[in-house]
Amino acid sequence: MEYYIADSAVFIMGAGLEPHRMITIPSVVNELKSNEASMRFELARESGARVEMPGEDFREAVLKIAKETRDCEELSATDVDILAKALEYKDNSVLLTDDYAVQNVARVMGIEVKPVAQKKIKDVLVWQKQCAGCRRYFDSGDVCPVCGSALRKRRKRKI
Ligand SMILES: [Zn+2]
Repeated sequence: MEYYIADSAVFIMGAGLEPHRMITIPSVVNELKSNEASMRFELARESGARVEMPGEDFREAVLKIAKETRDCEELSATDVDILAKALEYKDNSVLLTDDYAVQNVARVMGIEVKPVAQKKIKDVLVWQKQCAGCRRYFDSGDVCPVCGSALRKRRKRKI
């Protein structure tokens, strides 16, 4: 069975998942501030969602990778815990989180990640205008201020 490792966004946004496949951690539950989010959690728990402590070995493995990717300073204790839990279930789970640093470390560790509300990082594109004549790039406009040729929209890079 495939599990969903649920970060707080799952309960804040509501993700419509099968509760018996959901696993979360105590620190996520403690961070749920709104009544709505707490109620979503309680309903999920009554229907079989599990709350498990992350293992110390997995936490250490996460911290080691986070130091290498320099995401360490961005990660809260809860972030480390949810990553540790996802690592434990790495082969049969999907980590649901909207936190960029958590997503980044998860990818490096080979953990499958899905966003809850936000678009995936790799889907965010940056557009620029490129001159058809001199090939220079500009942020906006229709005519090149340098050579007078037409500017065309170009995909610059993925973030
Ligand atoms: Zn030009």
